[in-house]
Amino acid sequence: MNFKIGFGYDIHRLAEGEELWLGGLLIPHTKGSVGHSDADVVIHAICDAMIGALALGDIGSHFPDTDPQYKGIDSKVLLKHVYELINSKGWLIGNIDSTIVLETPKLRPHIDDMRNLLSSILTCDVSQISIKATTSEKLSYVGEEEGVKAYAVVLLQK
Ligand code: MG
Repeated sequence: MNFKIGFGYDIHRLAEGEELWLGGLLIPHTKGSVGHSDADVVIHAICDAMIGALALGDIGSHFPDTDPQYKGIDSKVLLKHVYELINSKGWLIGNIDSTIVLETPKLRPHIDDMRNLLSSILTCDVSQISIKATTSEKLSYVGEEEGVKAYAVVLLQK
């Protein structure tokens, strides 16, 4: 079989005084996401989807949030590790499609920068990386700006 598909999901709490990292970029905002690492939900969902495609566990089993070496870590480093892992097993990125759910700020001005950044880490073309953003229509915890979440599907190819 030359293709494998994986799915990933992540959520982090938002709080004042924290940095908002999404898709590898620091997004200017009054709130940021709380987590053991830089709490980048987009990269975490993509990592989980890549790991899941090869049935290699999940992001928590590869990078435990109890391990001090991952405290405050740049999630781009984790993504590079995961990419090297799938690469070492002979797999490449076919394509990625992800959705960020966040009430504010508007992410459209940052989306192409995220795609370019992630495609450089994953050594693929930017056309293989889709990042979309939506709100929660003011409903529930995301709508009340208490959290940010992301979903991703990844197709890997031999
Ligand atoms: Mg996470």
